[in-house]
Amino acid sequence: MEKLGIFGGTFNPVHNGHLSLCTQLADALEIPKVLLIPTAIPPHKRAPELASGEHRLAMCRLAAQSDPRFCPCDLELRRQGNSYTVETLRELGSLFPSAQLFLLMGTDMFLTVQNWYCACEIFQRAFLVAGARQEGEEKQLREHLQFLESLGAKGEIVPCRVVPVSSTMVRQARKQGVPLRGMVPEAVERYIEEKGLYLSKGE
Ligand code: ATP
Repeated sequence: MEKLGIFGGTFNPVHNGHLSLCTQLADALEIPKVLLIPTAIPPHKRAPELASGEHRLAMCRLAAQSDPRFCPCDLELRRQGNSYTVETLRELGSLFPSAQLFLLMGTDMFLTVQNWYCACEIFQRAFLVAGARQEGEEKQLREHLQFLESLGAKGEIVPCRVVPVSSTMVRQARKQGVPLRGMVPEAVERYIEEKGLYLSKGE
């Protein structure tokens, strides 16, 4: 059965922490293809610092050049409205009926997945794969996996070398005029500069 990785996020912007996590999780579970899916944010939730879906997808496209397994995907942006993971899994299930779906995530998402809309259906449709964002989170992740298993989920925690970057840090660095090198891929840094993203409130 073909394995398909799914990695969703705001990706505002996508950064090296995202990419490093995905690479390590895909390595560990031998996943040949990982979809990078930027989330659509409904207008009433739109933060002043949120780049448009088009920009966030373009940055995922550039970031995907760093690993042949990565594939940018506009499924949630095209759907508009709230991006419910369960709907994404349903759509991918019909698009790739023979694929085994792997939902990749970092600590913060993994610790809340039981509260997501139709969580039990998510657990039926996808195998969860999580890795730490910060040093020392692994024990908490393993304990949480046990709890999720009691709810019917299946998953695996992968020991990861952490890259403690966040999109918030990238946006702050940009405002302070600090070079983004090392936080995002070079092509993403160039894109942010060319388009003048994250300099001030809103765009
Ligand atoms: P923000 O700072 O704007 O809240 P973020 O950096 O947390 O953004 P998201 O797009 O919200 O990024 O995260 C998408 C996914 O990537 C989530 O599953 C999150 O846990 C994971 N993630 C984000 N940063 C890292 C990191 N440095 N290492 C591992 N996983 C990460």
